[in-house]
Amino acid sequence: MELDKMDENDWKYHGEGNKSLVVSHVQHARVLRLLKYSTEDAENSHKTTEQAFRHIQNIVDYSQNVMKPLLGEKFIHNGEAVKLPLDFVRQLSLKVQQERPESRCDKVMDTLSGCALCLPNLTQLSSCCCCSREHRPPLCIEIKPKCGFLPASRHITKDIKRKVCRFCMHQHFKLANGKWKRLSHYCPLDLFSGNKQRMSLAIKHLIEEPQNNFNIFKGGECIYTCNDDADVLQDLDELAQHLRPYFLPSGSLLSRQQSSKVVLNELIQVIVSALLSTWDCPRSGQLRKTHLSEGRVTCEASLLHRDLLRNGNHCLPKDCVLDKILSTQMLDNLDIEGLSPLFKRVEQHLQMFPKERCRLQMDGPYNASFLEKVQNCPAEDDGSIEYAVGKVHQYRVAMTAKDCSIMVAIATCGEDDGLDQSLEIQPTKPRFTCSVSILDLDPKPYESISHQSRLDYKIVNHYLRRTQPNN
Ligand code: ATP
Ligand code: ZN
Ligand code: MG
Ligand code: MG
Repeated sequence: MELDKMDENDWKYHGEGNKSLVVSHVQHARVLRLLKYSTEDAENSHKTTEQAFRHIQNIVDYSQNVMKPLLGEKFIHNGEAVKLPLDFVRQLSLKVQQERPESRCDKVMDTLSGCALCLPNLTQLSSCCCCSREHRPPLCIEIKPKCGFLPASRHITKDIKRKVCRFCMHQHFKLANGKWKRLSHYCPLDLFSGNKQRMSLAIKHLIEEPQNNFNIFKGGECIYTCNDDADVLQDLDELAQHLRPYFLPSGSLLSRQQSSKVVLNELIQVIVSALLSTWDCPRSGQLRKTHLSEGRVTCEASLLHRDLLRNGNHCLPKDCVLDKILSTQMLDNLDIEGLSPLFKRVEQHLQMFPKERCRLQMDGPYNASFLEKVQNCPAEDDGSIEYAVGKVHQYRVAMTAKDCSIMVAIATCGEDDGLDQSLEIQPTKPRFTCSVSILDLDPKPYESISHQSRLDYKIVNHYLRRTQPNN
């Protein structure tokens, strides 16, 4: 990519989240991730180029030096902070504007700094030898799994938090506030359970109501995403038509309805096995008993049948992507209720000794010494500022792991191509190669902790009022 010869016609809208907008290159497997800010946010719009570049470099450092060692080398791709010509960024912003979903237009893309994060396009699996002659474009499934455990902290004041997971409670809050029109039946505890049946149902629920937790890309194009006004059945049927060539032999005689069911089920099975795969890890096959005692691994709001929940073996293979994400999320072991007093201890300390902000690395730099503070935090509170800071850092790292996305890229490498399937009695299914990556690993600002505390209170109280109005 030659930064001085950038042409907006080489790039197209790819997607966006709450904090950034992503464009992809039309030929090369690259994306640019540009930051967004709300129009009222004067501070951000006045960031100088140097400040914006520093901010993006911080994201790169955090992902590489902090999240990568915790989540595992093989899942994380390095990005690069880049400075782009301002003219290119302005033209790009105009070009993508009409493609943006209305619900995201409360924020604007940063066109002033010219800074962006350049990353490999994870929806386009890098071609391996056997796939280069492959005519089917790669599929990519994006899952934003959210928090996969129930908190066990003794600081928790509301018992419901030990029974119903945060995602399920948050759903009711979001519905009441008009964020979504329908409730999602997805429960992260099912996805992280390691039990194939529970995981399959969790993914089925994601497909039925994707919200912003599930997307499917084909050849880099998004073909399935949230659609609040959708006719769900029609959308599912269209999705199944896209998937049919991947999961059913070309000669299949199944009806449209039958095949829909089969291909969606096949898709779910491929995703489950990719999420549980330990790849070429020498310790593969080893199971890690869920970090929590029995009884805390199920969410009372999950729709699954009680027998299934009770009998399920709650194990994740050690070092599979879900295991890595879950153990990083569990660095938050005090819950926001236990963390808040420590956050206040840090605040007071910084008020008295403002220069300590730098030594304690409250806003970075995100280097080996920051990771050391995260990993070697004392187990018990000795009243020190070091303990408080260590817990705050751990909490922020856990927040990032609760907000990241998993990308499962699937390419077919079938030997059956071109064969006349009707000659075979039991046609072979295409074979797949999968690759799994993790993205969206931004540091969560230190200041957002007080916001988290208020939000937690609101979500829990709303849930209690909704479900137990007489208490
Ligand atoms: P969130 O609101 O979840 O915090 P965000 O604003 O931090 O989102 P990202 O999640 O990083 O932004 O990016 C938005 C979307 O762009 C992702 O959900 C994904 O679909 C797509 N995307 C981001 N990075 C890549 C990549 N490297 N390759 C392919 N697609 C990507
Ligand atoms: Zn739940
Ligand atoms: Mg995201
Ligand atoms: Mg993000």
